[in-house]
Amino acid sequence: MLMFGATEIFLSDKAFMSIILSSVEVYKNESHGALLGFQTHGRIIVEYAIPFQSAKRKFAEVTPNWRRELKVIEVLPKLIHLQKLGYFHSHPQFGEKRGLAQLSETDKEYIGEGEIEIVVAINDAKKTSLWTETKNKLSGTLGKYNITIAGFYKRKKDSKIIQYRVLCPYAIGFDYAFEQ
Ligand SMILES: [Zn+2]
Repeated sequence: MLMFGATEIFLSDKAFMSIILSSVEVYKNESHGALLGFQTHGRIIVEYAIPFQSAKRKFAEVTPNWRRELKVIEVLPKLIHLQKLGYFHSHPQFGEKRGLAQLSETDKEYIGEGEIEIVVAINDAKKTSLWTETKNKLSGTLGKYNITIAGFYKRKKDSKIIQYRVLCPYAIGFDYAFEQ
């Protein structure tokens, strides 16, 4: 079903840390926020991920309205000469049900055309593992959490959703395990 595109999404060290730390911070609720950066041929560079501090964080699968609350994101790119690329949000483990790094049907609807969406699956880690890039996902552990990151893009011409590789040279090989 899903198409894989040749474009790659690169996460800066800052964006990577914001995404994983905000997902850990609100676990087992969903984190969400905006992505700022720029695009070059075949590459989307995410410079900053800005977590959105919501007073009513909850499982957002049924309440994707938080996108409308991110008004500051409309002015920020102009100030720092970056583009709003899209959004990220997490899929935390819920009871025994593990979060998946894929789009729900609701997620698919709410992605803006020409925008990316980064989905962060965050689950209880059974063991620690180094950060690695697979064919289409970036994954590893942070403390006692297992985190998997996937990236998607909604094409303007036909609203088709394409999965893009997510790369983060900064993260690779790092061991973010720490003593609790
Ligand atoms: Zn989702």
